[in-house]
Amino acid sequence: MWILLVEDEKQLANSLKRGLEEEGYVVEVIHDGEEAELEGIVNDYDLVVLDWRLPKRDGKEILERWRKEERNFPVLMLTAMGDLDHKISGLDAGADDYMSKPFSFEELLARIRALSRRSSDITHSETKKVGPIELDTRKHKVIICGIERTLRPKEFTLLEILLNEPETVFSKTQIAERVWGSAYYVSDNTIEATISTLRQKLAESFDECEKVYLDDHSHIIETIRGAGYRLNSSLIKEGE
Ligand code: CA
Repeated sequence: MWILLVEDEKQLANSLKRGLEEEGYVVEVIHDGEEAELEGIVNDYDLVVLDWRLPKRDGKEILERWRKEERNFPVLMLTAMGDLDHKISGLDAGADDYMSKPFSFEELLARIRALSRRSSDITHSETKKVGPIELDTRKHKVIICGIERTLRPKEFTLLEILLNEPETVFSKTQIAERVWGSAYYVSDNTIEATISTLRQKLAESFDECEKVYLDDHSHIIETIRGAGYRLNSSLIKEGE
């Protein structure tokens, strides 16, 4: 389990890091708020221990930014005071738990264990299975006929949308809005290219399934002329 510890008191940070490593955790320490904010956006930590008062950015600002960027790892906030306002606004900003300093190391361990249990429950519940296709929306993984496949983020989101409503035809505008956030910034060519690469990856995956789901695997995502696209629903029915 990979933990990010954001704490500017270096002595405290070092002793926590040592203690956590003895418990078998992999720990990265960052002392400054700005750096922590950026690292949290690019790395998939399993859990973050985040101090409230930090140089350059406070913990609450960092956490708000992460949640806005859909960084959903569990966050345990630390604060120097048992200040109720801090506790409430920390939880409002998206913290999963909260501890006042000073705390015992045993208590920190207990809370980390509780949070990681809770987040693995969430991971589990966010696995979606439709016919032979399994999506893990938290880890952005797709498994087809038991084999894990790699999709790019836009392809993954597109597949997720089509799978959520297998009978529904989605227009290019609807796809643009849901996958790219707006139809304004994305051309028809980009949408078509993404559909085409997703189709190709799905077709290759289905070729390796023992059971035959469709005669022509390029039709897994159907084009409905003049209307848009939908997932071939016979695929889902046969898979059930
Ligand atoms: Ca501090």
